[in-house]
Amino acid sequence: GLELRNIVKNFGAVEVIRDVSLEVNDGEFVAFVGPSGCGKSTLLRLIAGLDKPTGGSIAIDGKDVTAIGAADRGLAMVFQSYALYPHMSVRENLAFGLENTKVAKAEIEARIADAARMLEIEPFLQRRPGQLSGGQRQRVAIGRAIVRRPDAFLLDEPLSNLDAELRVSMRAELAALHARLKATMIYVTHDQVEAMTLANRIVVLRGGRIEQVGTPLELYNEPANRFVAGFIGAPH
Ligand code: ATP
Ligand code: MG
Repeated sequence: GLELRNIVKNFGAVEVIRDVSLEVNDGEFVAFVGPSGCGKSTLLRLIAGLDKPTGGSIAIDGKDVTAIGAADRGLAMVFQSYALYPHMSVRENLAFGLENTKVAKAEIEARIADAARMLEIEPFLQRRPGQLSGGQRQRVAIGRAIVRRPDAFLLDEPLSNLDAELRVSMRAELAALHARLKATMIYVTHDQVEAMTLANRIVVLRGGRIEQVGTPLELYNEPANRFVAGFIGAPH
């Protein structure tokens, strides 16, 4: 499991994350929701190890990883902007993070084949990202995380660049992926429908603080305040 204890993050004099504590169990699908600028991406980057907290600590499976870099945390992040390498083929993009690791070549090939089948990107393996649609690129970005076999996926608004129809079908694919991989997923979104349909638990953030944590049903039936109710789309 993942444990955040009293996490604080300042950028200069500005406190962007204010005393956030949270536990995420193995295999959980947790959504971070909240308005633009509330600190969702910052919190995800701190969990990923791409940034260091100003205060507090982060533990994975009981081990303090606060000082450990992103590469050694066993997590994989999927960015909103895909962050694919434009000069590499899809296959090369998928293999890139694994090539200088202990993973054997045959194992890399097997993982790529498996992810490509799962995400239905087999026909595009030789293409460059620029020759793909937004939805296809998004699947490659998710594939790149899958081949690393992470304990947890950190997804920062992975569907936000897609049109409405594709979002809905990708939402179903993500749910199926979670069911199949049984990995922890932490999912940032500002779309309450996505959070309500995908997540086991929702974390509502406002101004760098946790406003409420609960299952979709709990937040809907017993929102802590009007802000949560408004955000979740519950009557208030
Ligand atoms: P959005 O929904 O728009 O993506 P968010 O909840 O992900 O918003 P963050 O990107 O975490 O918000 O930003 C939280 C706050 O921290 C914002 O006020 C932002 O301007 C500020 N911030 C983020 N990164 C930096 C940085 N590197 N330097 C200074 N301020 C930053
Ligand atoms: Mg963000």
